[in-house]
Amino acid sequence: MSTAPSLSFSISNKRKQILICDGFIFQLNRTRPRLKYWRCKDRTCSAYIHTDHKNQYVGKSGDHNLHLPVPEQVEVALFKEKVKERVLKETTAIGKIYDKEMASLTLSDGALNLIPLPEEAKASLNRLRRQTTPPLPTSSFFDVPDAYSTTTTGAHFLFSDTVVRKKRVILFATDEQLRMLFSTKTIMIDGTFSACVPQFDQVFSLHCVKFSMCYWVVAWSDCYNIQACLRGIGCSSSTS
Ligand SMILES: [Zn+2]
Repeated sequence: MSTAPSLSFSISNKRKQILICDGFIFQLNRTRPRLKYWRCKDRTCSAYIHTDHKNQYVGKSGDHNLHLPVPEQVEVALFKEKVKERVLKETTAIGKIYDKEMASLTLSDGALNLIPLPEEAKASLNRLRRQTTPPLPTSSFFDVPDAYSTTTTGAHFLFSDTVVRKKRVILFATDEQLRMLFSTKTIMIDGTFSACVPQFDQVFSLHCVKFSMCYWVVAWSDCYNIQACLRGIGCSSSTS
């Protein structure tokens, strides 16, 4: 009696489930009340795998007579799935996720040649991430989502959320950024109006210069009273 082959599953570029078996990739071809029929991804091939609806192996038909296994394509599919999973779950920069996953996986030379460059993959991954991005608020009354209240390392990021003279003021900064701000001799202030959603007046940011580098340290929205906000983070009102 032959043992059932080991099956694993992944997600294709088109967000469809694929089946991986012995270095071959199968796509779901038909679904019947009791069985699912998975056809080899190579359209010239007549190999099928049958599973039940819990994706347990039931049987197979046909053979891969006309082509060899594609282990490097399997590696690429697993790599892409891992990247997409992290893009959907995390707020880490997409380029950083891509680089980290490439470094953490031991990919064959064949797979490395098939994996798109980060710049090529970025557009589709950005589209994917936008699916999880909350819609822009339609008023200034909304809760700041948890994903924007803390950093990826879990540090506190939403520093203050108050109303000043009937205007909502939201400040973002980590403790580390504030420490850097208070230890610098040079602070720069910048504001932008065009990048702000209509319910807010502007996005304002504080930058400090340290080690000859300029660092973004605090940002806030809807601040028409700059001195009130500077006092809010503990800066002297004489700051100019
Ligand atoms: Zn085949």
